[in-house]
Amino acid sequence: MSRLFTWQVPQLELLRNHLFKQDLAHAYLIDDPAGEGSQGFVRALASTILCEQTQLGGCSSCPSCLLQNAGSHSDLLWVTPEDSKQIKIEQIRSVIEWSHQTPQQGRAKVLVLDPADRMNVYATNSLLKLLEEPAPNTYLFLISTSPARLLPTIRSRCQRLNLSTPTDEEGLRWLIETRPDADPELLEDVYAIAGRRPISAQALIDSEQVAQRLAMVAALTEWAKGYCGPLETTKKLAAKEAPSLPYELLYRATAIAQRQQFLPQSANRGGFQALIDELAGNWSTKALSRLADECGKARSLSGASNNLNGELLLEHFLMTQRDTA
Ligand SMILES: [Zn+2]
Repeated sequence: MSRLFTWQVPQLELLRNHLFKQDLAHAYLIDDPAGEGSQGFVRALASTILCEQTQLGGCSSCPSCLLQNAGSHSDLLWVTPEDSKQIKIEQIRSVIEWSHQTPQQGRAKVLVLDPADRMNVYATNSLLKLLEEPAPNTYLFLISTSPARLLPTIRSRCQRLNLSTPTDEEGLRWLIETRPDADPELLEDVYAIAGRRPISAQALIDSEQVAQRLAMVAALTEWAKGYCGPLETTKKLAAKEAPSLPYELLYRATAIAQRQQFLPQSANRGGFQALIDELAGNWSTKALSRLADECGKARSLSGASNNLNGELLLEHFLMTQRDTA
């Protein structure tokens, strides 16, 4: 999905002001840990920079915007990994060559590396040259969901830009507005299950896996209440395609329950909230803190396990955690 979201507009305006004052940095590292919305944001920013009217997100009618809309603007280069794996040195070499050419439309040039952390070491070293000797009027945007994976030498040469995220209310309102036909209570539940990330929530709805997630949440609730034992719960939860999913769901519920113990809230009556209420109401603060830690550990372990080990791991986890509640 590549579009600009309402909560990103102030940040885009701020950058346009820098452009007007001619103090826009020549390289930005766009930090998008949730992987939500950086493409749309950078596309709108590129359009703003290249638009002849410098209109926010582009005017859609000047020659530069028309070229962009047709996907054939020669001053905009969007580099993605070859074979969906790595950004290679040959790609960076042609980027450097491109950066030496004068802008075809005469304004500026925009280069996007998406995701920048998928550059191999040769590509990275080659890019350093470009960062050290920036070409005039060329702007670089490095998109990354995990900037820590980039070399410090790259990070230190870019200005860090933490992508704006919506407030809880803003995100939920957006989700409800974009899905006018869906049951708002269900949407609120899906929003919480998706870690209060509206775009992920929307993707979850589109993937038609909502019923499966809700069934998992129901099984976890039964387990948390002590109604269903570890063996039976493991059978209900075992997700072969995503063994870390039960831990992720439980971790999210635990994190919200921890806040709720100190700050009672939420009028939501959905299935996920039932799990949160159980944890917040009947588990001690200490048990919740341990549960959150153990969920994190089990989530990493589950990524490396095969199906059989995955089930044993889950069973052991459910057995030991419930005992300490
Ligand atoms: Zn324009």
